Amino acid sequence: VFNNGSPPRKRLALNINVNSNNFVSKNKLSIQEQRRKLPIFEKRNKLLELIRRHNTLIILGETGSGKTTQIPQYINSARLQNNGKIAITQPRRVAAISVAMRVAQEIGDSGGVGETVGYTVRFEDVTSPRTKIKYLTDGMLLREAMVDNLLMEYTFVILDEAHERTIHTDVLFGIVKQAQKARAEKKLRPLKILIMSATMDVDHFSEYFNNCQAVYLEGRTYPVNVYYTLTSHEDYQTACVATFFKIHRQAPWDHDVLIFLTGQEEIEAVAQQIRILSRDPDVSGPSVKVCPLYASQPTTQQITVFQPAPENTRKVVIATNVAETSITISGIRFVIDGGMVKARTYHPATGLDMLKVQRISQEQSWQRTGRAGRETEGYCYRIYTRAQYELLQKSTIPEIQRANLSTVVIQLLALGIHAANFDFMDKPPKDCVLAAFEQLKLLGAVESVESSSLTPLGKKMVQFPLDPRFSKIILSAQEYECLEEILTIVALLSGEAIFLNPSSKREQATTSRQKFLSPYGDHITLLNAFRVYRNLGSNSQRSWCHEHYINMRNISYAAQVRTQLLEVCQRLKLPVVSCGNDVEPIRKCLLTGLFMNVAELHKEKQYITLDKRQVVNIHPSSVIHGQQPKFVLFTEVVQTSKCYLRGLTTVESQWLYDIVPDYARSHIRLNKDL
Ligand code: ADP
Ligand code: MG
Repeated sequence: VFNNGSPPRKRLALNINVNSNNFVSKNKLSIQEQRRKLPIFEKRNKLLELIRRHNTLIILGETGSGKTTQIPQYINSARLQNNGKIAITQPRRVAAISVAMRVAQEIGDSGGVGETVGYTVRFEDVTSPRTKIKYLTDGMLLREAMVDNLLMEYTFVILDEAHERTIHTDVLFGIVKQAQKARAEKKLRPLKILIMSATMDVDHFSEYFNNCQAVYLEGRTYPVNVYYTLTSHEDYQTACVATFFKIHRQAPWDHDVLIFLTGQEEIEAVAQQIRILSRDPDVSGPSVKVCPLYASQPTTQQITVFQPAPENTRKVVIATNVAETSITISGIRFVIDGGMVKARTYHPATGLDMLKVQRISQEQSWQRTGRAGRETEGYCYRIYTRAQYELLQKSTIPEIQRANLSTVVIQLLALGIHAANFDFMDKPPKDCVLAAFEQLKLLGAVESVESSSLTPLGKKMVQFPLDPRFSKIILSAQEYECLEEILTIVALLSGEAIFLNPSSKREQATTSRQKFLSPYGDHITLLNAFRVYRNLGSNSQRSWCHEHYINMRNISYAAQVRTQLLEVCQRLKLPVVSCGNDVEPIRKCLLTGLFMNVAELHKEKQYITLDKRQVVNIHPSSVIHGQQPKFVLFTEVVQTSKCYLRGLTTVESQWLYDIVPDYARSHIRLNKDL
C-alpha cells in the first residue's frame, strides 16, 4: 500500500523539450534521426565553442540528454582532438561497454566496436590503433596513468558520472589536473578536461578545478508521481515483485517498468519470480519480457535491455544503480525503487572491508524517480515509507572517504606520490591512509609509512590489476610452487560467485557439488570445480554447469581473467608450476597476502578476527560451516543480522609465525580453554 509523495523537487533548470517523440515512434526512427532528436543536438555548436575556448569545462545535463554518447562524437567530427584520442571514463564496466557499442553503431563503422570507437575495462581491451574515442572504466585510465602520468595519448579526457565519486574517479581528478598543468609547463600538446554529470555540487568541483566554467544543458523532464509504502518492508524484494504485479494488472502493455535492486543474485532471483508468476493463468495482464541489468552480464544480454518489447508485451528491466544515471532505457513509465544499493565499505576501526547492502541517499532516490519521467508523465513506487526517506543521507559519501585505500595508495606510489601529499578534492581520513600504508608495509610493498616509492616487490605488485594483497599472493606462489593453482583461485575471486544457490533448490545444488568439496574450505573447493570445468570440451561445459548449479558465465569469465593474469606472470617471468594434489602450499601462499584476514575460534561457533578482535561467524554458505577449525582465512565479510565470513580456507597458526612473525606474535592470543 502506498501513499502519495510530494512531487520531485526541481533539480536543474529544465527547459527544452526532451524527446517529445514518444518511445514507440522513436523505435521507428533511424539511428541518425534519434541522434538529432536528443536535447543536446541543438546545443552542439555552442558546446563545441565552449569546449574550444576552455581547457577545463564542467558539463551538467539531465540523464539521457546525450552527454556520454554524443559529446565525444561532436569533438571527433569537429576534429578538435587533432591526432590525439578522446578518453571517456565510466565508473562501471557495464556502462563503458554498452555505451561504446552504441556509439560504434551510431558512427557506423563497418568493423563495429574496436575501430573508431573502442572500450577498455579490466581484463578486456577492445581497441585498435585506429581508435579515436575510447570508453574506459575509471580504474583502467588510472592504470594507464601509471604507465604515462601525462596521458600523452589523449588530447581529451572526459571524466563522466563525476557525481558518483568513485575512488578511481577521485584520484583521476588529481592526476588529470596535474597532467594538464605539467603538459602546459613543458609546452607539450594541451590536455583538455571535461567533467560531466547529471547532478553535482558544481561549486565544489569548479573550485577544485581552478574555478573552471560550468555549462548547464537545459532539458525537460515530466512530472513523476511518487508513492511511499505505508509500512516499512524488510523483504523489499518480495515487495518489489508484488508492486510490479499491481502495476502489471492495470497499466497498458507499452508502459515499461524499471526495478532497482542491488546485485546479480538478487536481480536474477526476482527476475525468475516475475517470469514464473507472469505465466500463472491466474495472473492477468499482457506477456512480460524480463531484462536483468547488472555489472557482470554478457554483452549480448545487455543489448536486449535496449530493444523494445514486442506487441502486447511489457518490458520490465531489473537493474542495479547502473540505471540510475549511467544507462538510459527508453519506454520506462514506472519505477519501483527497492531503496537499497550494494556498496563496499571499509571500517578502519574494525579493519574490515565489507560488501554491504545499504540504504541509498536521497539524491539517488530522486535520480531513480527521474527515470520514470523522461518521455512523459510517470510513476515511482518507493519501497520505503516517507519517514524512512527522511532519514536517508542527503547525498552519497565519496568512496574515498569510506573505502580501503591500499590500492589507491600503491597506485599513487607507483607515480612517485605519497597519498598524504596528493591533491584530493576531498581528503580521505588520515587513519585510513595510515592503515593502508601499514598494510602495504606488512605486504613488503613499502619500506615505511613515510615512503614515497615502492620496494622492488611493490613495483611488481602494481603490474597486476588487483588488490595488492592478491598481487602479493601471486608473487609468493613462486616460492610455494603453486602458481598454477593460485592463478585459478585469484581469477575466481575476481568475478562474481560461480556457485548458484537458488533458495528452492539449495539442497540439490549442494549435493551436486559434493565431489568438489574440500575439507580445507571454499577456495580449494572452487579450485576443484574449476579443474574439472577446464578439462571439459566446450560442448559439454554448458550441461556440466547446469548439472552442478554453476554459473556458466561467471566461470568462463574467471577463465578469461586467468588468461590475463597469466600474461602478466609471463611478462614478469614467473614460472607457472603446479603443486598437484598437495594443497598445503596453496593455503600457505594465500596467507602471505591475507594474513590480516584471519580469524580464530573464540567459543562455540564464534570467531574473532586477529587483526582488530571483531566477533564474526562463519556464513552458512561456506563448505566449512558447522565445523570448527581453529584458524580460518577469509576473503569476504558480509553484514546482515550478524557479521559473517564467506570464502574460507583453514590455516594453522604456525604458518602465521613463519610467514609474518612479528604480526603473528602481536596478534595471536590463543584461547587456552579450547
Ligand atoms: P547521458 O549521458 O546524457 O545520460 P546518453 O548519451 O547516455 O545520455 O544517452 C543518450 C540517448 O542514447 C538516450 O536516449 C539513450 O536511451 C540512448 N542510448 C544509449 N545507449 C543506447 C543503446 N545501447 N541502445 C539504444 N539506445 C541507447
Ligand atoms: Mg551518461
